[in-house]
Amino acid sequence: MNRLIDSHCHLDRVDLGPYDQDFAALIRACSESGIARMLCVGIDLDSYPAMRDLVDPYPEIDVAVGVHPNESGGEEPSLERLLALAADPRVVAIGETGLDYYRLGDGDASVQQRRFRIQIAAARACGKPLIIHTRAARADTLRLLREEGAAAVGGVLHCFTEDWETARAGLDLGLYLSFSGILTFKKAEPLREVARRVPLDRLLIETDAPYLAPVPHRGRSNTPLYLGYVAGCLAELRGLEVERLAEVTADNYRCLFRR
Ligand SMILES: [Zn+2]
Repeated sequence: MNRLIDSHCHLDRVDLGPYDQDFAALIRACSESGIARMLCVGIDLDSYPAMRDLVDPYPEIDVAVGVHPNESGGEEPSLERLLALAADPRVVAIGETGLDYYRLGDGDASVQQRRFRIQIAAARACGKPLIIHTRAARADTLRLLREEGAAAVGGVLHCFTEDWETARAGLDLGLYLSFSGILTFKKAEPLREVARRVPLDRLLIETDAPYLAPVPHRGRSNTPLYLGYVAGCLAELRGLEVERLAEVTADNYRCLFRR
């Protein structure tokens, strides 16, 4: 059986309906279907303690703490607070953070930028890599990563959907690129073209569950159990056996997150 690692999911938001609201049953199902490890990613500081408690009994689940660019109204991230939370040995990364101008509306990009800079500084101070979300903001994302010296800790451009030029710039900063179920979408041919070119030693896979379910479950609630569809698609693009892709992406995960 393949031993896949889901490098980005939100387990506290996955639909537990099929498991009678039993989180342990979901995790058991993941393990039985070959998901060896998962990285459960925080999106705000208010929901973080409950998420951290939820995954506590499962050593195969790593954690990231951070504030998503589109979250608003909750606790603002400060360097002190992030460092206190990141001192937890189960925390392997800072994120998800980044910039998202797609849903900015009339909002002020400077708020997102300030938060992003603080989180990059926190990652540098604790020596843990970044989980970076970028949407409709590629130039500013790369600029802030450079200005704040993110290359010192590295990280991943998660749920990568940008063009090759952006991929190249990310790779030059030492970043990994993580591909999600979007890779399986019918219209994603340009993205599949990018995925064919990324060096094997910089590839990660993720579900971003409960979002972005891959084909043939597109539009429904996503779960780490669907990671196999992402792995299968990427393996085919790379001309690799799924077993080999599982190995490569697991090695990359351990290398980036020091697991
Ligand atoms: Zn996410």
